[in-house]
Amino acid sequence: MTVTELVSYEDALASYDPVMGLEVHVELGTRTKMFCGCSTSLGADPNTQTCPVCLGLPGSLPVVNATAVESAVRIGLALNCEIAQWCRFARKNYFYPDMPKNFQISQYDEPIAFDGYLDVQLEDGEVFRVGIERAHMEEDTGKSTHIGGATGRIHGAVHSLLDYNRAGIPLIEIVTKPITGAGERAPEVAKAYVAELRELIRALGVSEARMEMGQMRCDVNLSLRPHGTETFGTRSETKNVNSLRSVERATRFEIQRHAAVLGSGGTIVQETRHFHEDDGSTTSGRVKEEAEDYRYFPEPDLVPVAPAREWVEGLRAGLPELPRLRRNRLREEWGISEHEMQSVLNAGAIDLITATIDAGAPADQARKWWMGELARRANEQGTELSALPITPDRVARVCELVADGSLNDKLARQVIEGVLAGEGGPDEVVDKRGLKVVSDTGALSAAVDEAIAANGAIAEKIRGGKVAAAGALVGAVMKATRGQADAARVRELILEKLGVQG
Ligand SMILES: [Zn+2]
Repeated sequence: MTVTELVSYEDALASYDPVMGLEVHVELGTRTKMFCGCSTSLGADPNTQTCPVCLGLPGSLPVVNATAVESAVRIGLALNCEIAQWCRFARKNYFYPDMPKNFQISQYDEPIAFDGYLDVQLEDGEVFRVGIERAHMEEDTGKSTHIGGATGRIHGAVHSLLDYNRAGIPLIEIVTKPITGAGERAPEVAKAYVAELRELIRALGVSEARMEMGQMRCDVNLSLRPHGTETFGTRSETKNVNSLRSVERATRFEIQRHAAVLGSGGTIVQETRHFHEDDGSTTSGRVKEEAEDYRYFPEPDLVPVAPAREWVEGLRAGLPELPRLRRNRLREEWGISEHEMQSVLNAGAIDLITATIDAGAPADQARKWWMGELARRANEQGTELSALPITPDRVARVCELVADGSLNDKLARQVIEGVLAGEGGPDEVVDKRGLKVVSDTGALSAAVDEAIAANGAIAEKIRGGKVAAAGALVGAVMKATRGQADAARVRELILEKLGVQG
């Protein structure tokens, strides 16, 4: 099906209500794998972080990673879930080369956490509650690289390479309840949910949740039902969508595609689909397996997980402030609008600004430098703000030097340039580049005299009482001193020398 056969988004919504289900996989940032002691660090040579357990060699026995269980419980608590008193792992049986055991250890009907919710704030400030069905623990698979095909997919490839370094990395899969009632805002709700979940995961410190690195990936289930009906339609499942924008686009596309199929009297096939970043479309993957195809059974090599209640309550008491509440608190403390806060979030600047304020900078100054000069430089270099080689402490020091009059904005920008260039901290850059504001009368006097001499006509106007004309002479002095003169002091000197009152 091509894009031209889609019905318009408005027409789709005029006839149908979308129902979504979002399944998000998060790779936990534990030091070792889910069931063995192999390292999880990224970037190692292929197949160097493996052992008999994660390679599924006969006779090897898995042992549960305690930190992963703790992370799963904390995620469950932060999502307002019930925590299981007792639960087991299950074997999910299927054959695929990236899974050397031919089964994945997962959880089936006994998830560690279930029946919760996450409140999601939409761009206009409205809060939408997304129900959480379950959060369960499982292990990641290895990574296949298909060589020779045009698209990197297995079709057309001449051979495939397998790297088992990722096999056995702990995953948490978080599954929503069916999301209804979002209407035309369904794509926005889907995006906002994944964004909020990512913030939550980061606030818990259990994963960096970088979608572009596959540490967090979303499967988008979507179906339509005619307005006024209760029964859900057949759903499609778009797999491994790996950016917030793609989650929104995939949802939107599937709404239009489903409406087109249903509207022309066709039926939706229950299948998995691939999302294409280039044109925002999805294409058919494989016909979806039913749960019974996996022949789940309790994992016999692992003991059940039975978290002690006191331990769970201790973890609950230690949860951090939830991101949405923190954002609202900071927005009020900083005195900015929803829209301005949204810009801060989009720029990934909230923690940087907070740390700069903690280091002593006033809120408006901290926000001004990160969202202005530093955002501009990050943008120029095509990098994230957090990747710039400058710390919040150093930005706070720049703010302090501006506040005490040692630097003006122009000089401060040069200091930042120096810090980013690796010339040291702000004070070092000021010293090395000689960037202090000059307000000393002796040092400024000659430059002022020169400016007056070179601009006789303007000087006459000022003598005659047109004080506003002094701006031109201040500009001349600033230029002559390469922006280092204290502009207010220069103005005073000009008026003094020309014998007029400011
Ligand atoms: Zn291993």
